[in-house]
Amino acid sequence: MKALVYHGPGKKAWEEVPKPIIKEQTDAIVKIVKTTICGTDLHIMKGDLPAVTDGRIIGHEGIGIIDEAGSAVANYKKGDHVLISCITSCGKCENCKKAMYSHCEKGGWILGNLIDGTQAEYVRIPYADNSLYPIPEDADEEAMVMLSDVLPTGFECGVLSGKVKPGDTIAIIGAGPIGMAALLTSQFYSPAEIIVIDMDDNRLAVAKTFGATHTINSSNENALDRVMGLTNDKGVDVAIEAVGIVPTFELCESIVGAGGHIANIGVHGKSVTLHLETLWSKNLTITTHLVDTVTIPMLFKTVQGKKIDPKKLITHRFKLDQIMEAYEAFGNAAKEKTLKVILTNKEEFTNRKSYQSNN
Ligand SMILES: [Zn+2]
Ligand SMILES: [Zn+2]
Repeated sequence: MKALVYHGPGKKAWEEVPKPIIKEQTDAIVKIVKTTICGTDLHIMKGDLPAVTDGRIIGHEGIGIIDEAGSAVANYKKGDHVLISCITSCGKCENCKKAMYSHCEKGGWILGNLIDGTQAEYVRIPYADNSLYPIPEDADEEAMVMLSDVLPTGFECGVLSGKVKPGDTIAIIGAGPIGMAALLTSQFYSPAEIIVIDMDDNRLAVAKTFGATHTINSSNENALDRVMGLTNDKGVDVAIEAVGIVPTFELCESIVGAGGHIANIGVHGKSVTLHLETLWSKNLTITTHLVDTVTIPMLFKTVQGKKIDPKKLITHRFKLDQIMEAYEAFGNAAKEKTLKVILTNKEEFTNRKSYQSNN
């Protein structure tokens, strides 16, 4: 089969590799129908995640069809349509029992990181019963791909950790796919004002169409002054950090109001200054959170019920074997106006009928 293989910083190739096989009877092999590229994959390509080694197949999002299920897999059989969670979870360890799948003792975020991932024609999913979710055959597959990572991450780590509630004024710093997912899912709770801050005018314009009430381009406006002006100097109830750099986290510290919440989503590579000299008396919480994906079933219902349309996040579509081009478009997001890209295994579509009748 073909897969996107990481060969060290700056090096990747779409190349022939062995098809994965069942290693444990709790595994399933999934034929990928659609997948995507995550900002985290770009970090991997730069060499920011040294745990990812030469030869690793990248990718942790996607939907597909069960090609083979181990004998201990109870919930899935060949031909079933499934959504792949970016988080692998055994469902049995102490952390899984607390629904903290991100810290599963045998799993967590391993796909496309410590084990081979989804930017491939086939992928091996450990603990398939707990790490996959069933989807109907007629589900909107592109929308479903947004449920692997983007939507639950924005929702769990931003909106739920930030305790967004009706009437709140919230600020989302970073209008990439994750910030946009927080923007879409925060509206379940009817915040009164949603301020989106970014340095890309195109993304800010898109954020307006997704429900932002105010946008601030922090490259040519003073974001702190603007937020204070918009909130009568009170600051926001919830500041959601969706970038992962020092200035954006420190901006959250300066714009959060008394009793507020800072919900960090960004992946940080450097330490930040915690301004306790101003924050100590503010009755606020700061949360960090790696997505558990426990909200996938709930988010799935909101998508099926048309309460939310995550397809809005998709700007570019490619065939799976055009993945090198897709990386170009995703890596040059400002120029190409990219949010999420969708990669489709074309062969799967033409063969689907025969594939199913062969079972
Ligand atoms: Zn991701
Ligand atoms: Zn576990």
